[in-house]
Amino acid sequence: MTPGGSTPGGSTPGGSTPGGNEGSRPLLNRRLAGHGSTIFAEMSALAVRTGAINLGQGFPDTDGPEEVREAAVRALRDGRGNQYPPGPGVPELREAISEHQRRFYGLSFDPDTEVLVTAGATEAIAAAMLALLEPGDEVIAFEPFYDSYAAGIAMAGAVRVPLTLRAPDFRPDLDALRDAVTPRTRLLLLNSPHNPTGSVLTREEAEAIARLAVERDLLVVTDEVYEHLVFEGEHLPLISLPGMRERTVSISSAGKTFSFTGWKVGWVTGSPALVAAVRTAKQYLTFVSAGPFQYAVAEALRLPEAYFHGFREELRGKRDLLAEGLTAAGFEVYRPQGTYFITTDVAALGEEDGVAFCLALPERCGVVAVPNAVFHDDPRAGRAQVRFAFCKRREVLETAAERLRGLAKG
Ligand code: PMP
Ligand code: GLN
Repeated sequence: MTPGGSTPGGSTPGGSTPGGNEGSRPLLNRRLAGHGSTIFAEMSALAVRTGAINLGQGFPDTDGPEEVREAAVRALRDGRGNQYPPGPGVPELREAISEHQRRFYGLSFDPDTEVLVTAGATEAIAAAMLALLEPGDEVIAFEPFYDSYAAGIAMAGAVRVPLTLRAPDFRPDLDALRDAVTPRTRLLLLNSPHNPTGSVLTREEAEAIARLAVERDLLVVTDEVYEHLVFEGEHLPLISLPGMRERTVSISSAGKTFSFTGWKVGWVTGSPALVAAVRTAKQYLTFVSAGPFQYAVAEALRLPEAYFHGFREELRGKRDLLAEGLTAAGFEVYRPQGTYFITTDVAALGEEDGVAFCLALPERCGVVAVPNAVFHDDPRAGRAQVRFAFCKRREVLETAAERLRGLAKG
């Protein structure tokens, strides 16, 4: 099973060519073979089909701040963004992103040359891979990894080199990282806070990774979409470390921070040269997107500190609630330092295979979760691990926990 690949019960669209004269040639090209429907689509469909509580796909069951939603309505009504916005994003949003980076991290980015608005972090990741990699380049990423990494690397014709984060702490093995760098290594693709394990890089880890990148002259792409969901430790953008400014593409998104995952407003910050490279690929993927939402996200990024603090504390409470519920239900729980996911181990419940467990779970107790195995190249590594999302209303988490308690009883 490959990351984002053959998902449980998923089909890979790869039938043979119409006409039949190339009978055995699959429709789906070699780069995308094995990247059938995403695990999130699969598991959300399963939740709808069975009426189960969906703790699989990571999206909140309540929308973000009312004033932000209203800002989108206002933009739509006022005719702002209803026609193609500028390719790099509307100036108001690029300025707000630049202000946000200064306010939270003391980093300064020129809104005109060092900021790019994208269709979510997903497009930013894909565009970065397409822009920066040659076929055959190696990309090192810590597995389990978010499914679009494997697909993005594959679309660029590059080669992924996974390094496994292991329970219970899911710390990066810095010696293994050093050993994994070869003359073909072009890029490190990093994610902190980390989906699905919830680990957050420490300052020491981040500094060691940055030193290695400088020493071996590597590019670094950092996926920081959970930057405002750190419960233990701090979020430290790698781009702020010595020697990293000219080699780092920093990516984030409004979806998680403001609970509007459907708006798909993301962004890239980095040096003018890197942002220009990513923009080159991005302009032929979507060109632009989400016009009116860009104005609303500009307002969201300027919300007072109380919003960001309140959001984090609310999610911390939900993390603790679900962690307790899962522990009471007999799971081994790896308490996350960040994100809105909890990785568990189901071996404690006498289960060996997380995929089989997740496929049976809706029938057994009306809850949907995601098997971590699909985020791994090494299928043994996450075999018994299962991820639950806690970005749901408290009563939903309580009901889910109660249902899961039935598991131990058989
Ligand atoms: N990276 C990670 C680690 C994610 O969990 C997600 C899902 N939000 C994304 C990227 C994609 O973000 P977006 O919805 O902004 O494309
Ligand atoms: N980031 C979300 C998750 O990890 C899912 C996003 C998606 O469905 N592509 O659950």
